[in-house]
Amino acid sequence: MFSGSDDEIPVNTVGKPDISRKKSAELYEKSKTYFPGGVNSPVRAFKSVHGTPLFIQKGDGCHIWDADGNQFIDFCASWGPLILGHNHPAVREKVVEVMQNGMSFGAPTALENQLAELILKNNRYIKKIRFTSSGTEAVMSAVRLARAYTKRDKILKFEGCYHGHLDALLVKAGSGLVTFGESSSAGIPKAFADETIVVPLNNRQAVDEAFAKFEGQIAAVIIEPIPANNGLLLQTKEFLEFLRESCSRNKSLLIFDEVISGFRVGFEGAAGFYDIKPDIITYGKIIGGGLPVGMYGSSEEIMTMISPDGPVYQAGTLSGNPVAMAAGIAQLTELSKAGFYKDLNNKTSEFAGSIQRFAASRNYKFNVFYIGSIFWFAFTDQEKISAAEEIDPSGMEKFKIMHRELLNRGIYFGPSGYEVGFISSVHSKVDLEKAKRAIFESLDLVFKLPKA
Ligand SMILES: *Cc1c(COP(=O)(O)O)cnc(C)c1O
Repeated sequence: MFSGSDDEIPVNTVGKPDISRKKSAELYEKSKTYFPGGVNSPVRAFKSVHGTPLFIQKGDGCHIWDADGNQFIDFCASWGPLILGHNHPAVREKVVEVMQNGMSFGAPTALENQLAELILKNNRYIKKIRFTSSGTEAVMSAVRLARAYTKRDKILKFEGCYHGHLDALLVKAGSGLVTFGESSSAGIPKAFADETIVVPLNNRQAVDEAFAKFEGQIAAVIIEPIPANNGLLLQTKEFLEFLRESCSRNKSLLIFDEVISGFRVGFEGAAGFYDIKPDIITYGKIIGGGLPVGMYGSSEEIMTMISPDGPVYQAGTLSGNPVAMAAGIAQLTELSKAGFYKDLNNKTSEFAGSIQRFAASRNYKFNVFYIGSIFWFAFTDQEKISAAEEIDPSGMEKFKIMHRELLNRGIYFGPSGYEVGFISSVHSKVDLEKAKRAIFESLDLVFKLPKA
């Protein structure tokens, strides 16, 4: 959609001068010779914002520093995992302690039990789990499990929900209510995409039609119960309950992909937040404390299908890696302390609320959507956006200007207007006030009003 060229961006003559990006630019020139697009995950490329990726040197608390020594207040949080901020002493110390004893054994360790206990003791919805090394792997395994358990092949997903890069789910919707999968990545066999049904979020009729059209064929409905990978497309509790009932009635499994929402909106994730029991839950991001971990879990009965108990094969050389488990144990221990989520969520609603009030006082077409400690800036006056097609793409040009102005004011956001931001427990009042000021100034520039 965006060229990535800066030609069409007005020079920010009224804004602050651009920060120095000399070292990052040099590193990027090199990295382009090693990696496609110079990056190891495409979301890191600055394709839809000004400039080239900043290479990060270190992080501490809510701050990160790039290779040029610029300091930022970070709202990307490694795309979600760092709910305690960077370099949290409890996480670092536990990791260092465990690392003294070796990095990996390919045999069970007590650490896996400890992390499992932390997760399961506080969760009403799942009884048994399996650790993987990424969210993608967790979802891929959950889908395989659902297919094996139901002896059906089709998966129903929602437009705008991201579930990792497994073939079956890298499919977006075309037009129409019920669309046969049209892959959004090259390299996915049509036969695979055909097993994926894509419908719009928040649309009961589309779900009903899919269940009618593919009666007895849908193994699972998968949803991000808090869709946060394409803006923040909050669903109503009623819609999620409707999915629960539809799945039960049609003997399909309901999968909550909570890789982003798990341990973010509360210790029991979105399932606990809405009090809805899915059949399978996937977690990732936060449970690894910044190291590579994913996990899927379900009832005793369904998990018994997994190898070596059952016929569904799923394995991993580094699954349950002790160092990653250590980071997860330390992080979840902090999260389980009384009042953790209340404080974090209050901080977020204050932050979002005050930005919202500022925009309203200036009559800007701008809304802050938020839940728990996730927020999203939407350049719109719509009070609710609950489906991908309701997002006005022209807002992304405004985000592009805003992103540059924010970097120049020491505030780091993920480099796309479709990405959400995260508040961590270490964003202090002072940090958030500083960020707010920068956001106000940037909004004034975006909407081109003279400063007050
Ligand atoms: C990040 C994410 C994934 C993929 O996890 P990776 O660890 O990047 O493979 C899957 N589902 C959701 C909802 C996510 O946010």
